Amino acid sequence: MADIIELLPDHVANQIAAGEVVQRPASVVKELLENSIDAGATYIKLVIKDAGKTLVQVIDDGMGMSVTDARLCFERHATSKIRSAEDLFGIHTKGFRGEALASIGAIAHVELQTKTDGKELGTTVIMEGSEVKSQEASVVPKGTAISVKHLFFNIPARRNFLKSDTVELRHVIDEFHRVALAHPNVAFSMWHNGTEMFSTPSSNFRQRIVNLFGFKMNEKLVPVNEATELVDIDGFVLKPEFSKKGKNDQYFFVNDRFIKSPYLHHAVKSAFEGLIKDGYQPGYFLKFKVDPKSIDINIHPTKTEIKFDDEHSLYALIRAAVKHSLGQYNVAPVLDFDRDSQLDTPYNYKDKPVTWPTVEVDRNFNPFQEETKYRSSGITNFRSKQKESWESLYVDLELEPKGDAESAVIGIEQDFKHSKIFGEDHTEVQIKTYQIFTKYVITALKSGMLIIDQNRAHQRILYEEYLKQLTTKASVSQQLLFPITLEFTRKEFSVLDTIKEDLAHAGLLYSSVSDSKIEVTGVPIGVPESEVLTIIEDLISDVTQEIPDTNFGTHDMVSKSLSKSLAIKTGQSLSALEQEDLVNRLFACKEPSLSPFNKPIFITMALGDIEKQFKL
Ligand code: ADP
Ligand code: MG
Repeated sequence: MADIIELLPDHVANQIAAGEVVQRPASVVKELLENSIDAGATYIKLVIKDAGKTLVQVIDDGMGMSVTDARLCFERHATSKIRSAEDLFGIHTKGFRGEALASIGAIAHVELQTKTDGKELGTTVIMEGSEVKSQEASVVPKGTAISVKHLFFNIPARRNFLKSDTVELRHVIDEFHRVALAHPNVAFSMWHNGTEMFSTPSSNFRQRIVNLFGFKMNEKLVPVNEATELVDIDGFVLKPEFSKKGKNDQYFFVNDRFIKSPYLHHAVKSAFEGLIKDGYQPGYFLKFKVDPKSIDINIHPTKTEIKFDDEHSLYALIRAAVKHSLGQYNVAPVLDFDRDSQLDTPYNYKDKPVTWPTVEVDRNFNPFQEETKYRSSGITNFRSKQKESWESLYVDLELEPKGDAESAVIGIEQDFKHSKIFGEDHTEVQIKTYQIFTKYVITALKSGMLIIDQNRAHQRILYEEYLKQLTTKASVSQQLLFPITLEFTRKEFSVLDTIKEDLAHAGLLYSSVSDSKIEVTGVPIGVPESEVLTIIEDLISDVTQEIPDTNFGTHDMVSKSLSKSLAIKTGQSLSALEQEDLVNRLFACKEPSLSPFNKPIFITMALGDIEKQFKL
């Protein structure tokens, strides 16, 4: 057989390497910022256009490069940061693979201007798809400026793969935050499409956090400091009451490098145990200093995952340090979240002996059997019977009342009428409903009964209402007499901006006062002013978590988030009118049996089954 193996040409090899290093504009931002840090810059300016798709430019006042280095830096495995394999065990720089510029040069138009200290003239190099287009002497300031234009110009598939500007911008901001947080002593600024988004002078870590995330952050921070033989821990956790549902505000840095570590995250989370609600996440900005010999940074091309020699001890130390801080700052006493006395055991139950609940399984149950033939005992399992089951209970029921004469013949004890808002349009109670455990509403029908989860039922109602408002763009809003001013970080603000129109249709009207402040002038009907901030914060965190995966479905997402925030909760007692209204509106929904999050809303008990139980 003839020889078939060939060495790949450089530009192909570089493109392949680029696949690992450069996924999106944010990857370029990370690499360039880190190079500037390694070059000892004291001020770094990041300029991007169209979320970095058109331009990523990084300008620094670092050591610059010689004429030869300015050319050589685009070669693969060209680095000034390590000389031998041993150096890998004592990394003090961000880069060391010598891959970033070669990769970026292979998939973009790059212009490099650089000058070292004391030299009269600097160099300008122009690269296009791994080829040097020109290199000449030029008059430039000390330091380095690199412009990366038209990312993926020669790989359309990768370019098409990029998300919307909003999403890409968010990734860029994330990278910017990570580098800026790791190096508070370096001054940074960031510009997007001609406007300055961040500007942070050289400062300490606390000031840097506040500079990037807004002054509100200051009061949320609890310092964590612990010096041990294995690791020095320094930084802050957020007070438990500021924990959020998303993965916001979670930063670990090891030797000034941002890292991700589910294992260490778990250590922090476990220190917060009992202090934060289920499903909420602690926020933290924690820096660890360890001996470079005790870690391996080389396991991931973008170097965000690293391996520790002694992960177990690190876990224990971090957990202890965070616990200690929470205790010291007096945020650890028993916290009782939203406890509602109505959720406590009713006191006539208190002295009753505890009995073991009995569970009965119907072994003959066949979900594919027809409803009418199916005879089970006791409460029917919701999932197995789904929709037919409740519809069969409403055999004679007319959901849309046609007129008084007709509604009078409805075969159950009451008459179904539609009403819009709790308490409106009602003069008398007509459905027999009962609320139990301030959680469920029971309603009896001619042929059986329903046990309805009040929170899920209301979620469904609100969800369909908002969805309708958003798709038909018909908004109903309650004007505020005094507008409420709220402040957000720029990142939160940019998220909010992406759903501004949807929010307006849902009734939440605001105008921007500055690039981080908004003035809310209208809220959805029935929303108390005191809840506006929480609702918006929840929205932002829901949208932040959803968006990276999908560019569509914001209507759905916004409706879901609002319905979740605004639905009546477990523990809220409902008047007879409210219970009736809830039932009416639920069954006017398109999908009354499932909550927007696909949870069953009610279970049914058919009269026949109840009677059968008594005959046993
Ligand atoms: P690495 O950072 O892993 O060494 P890069 O491809 O990112 O690899 O950079 C290659 C080399 O180019 C660096 O080792 C450094 O010597 C030089 N370099 C890159 N960016 C700068 C900069 N902003 N200022 C000075 N030198 C730089
Ligand atoms: Mg580098």
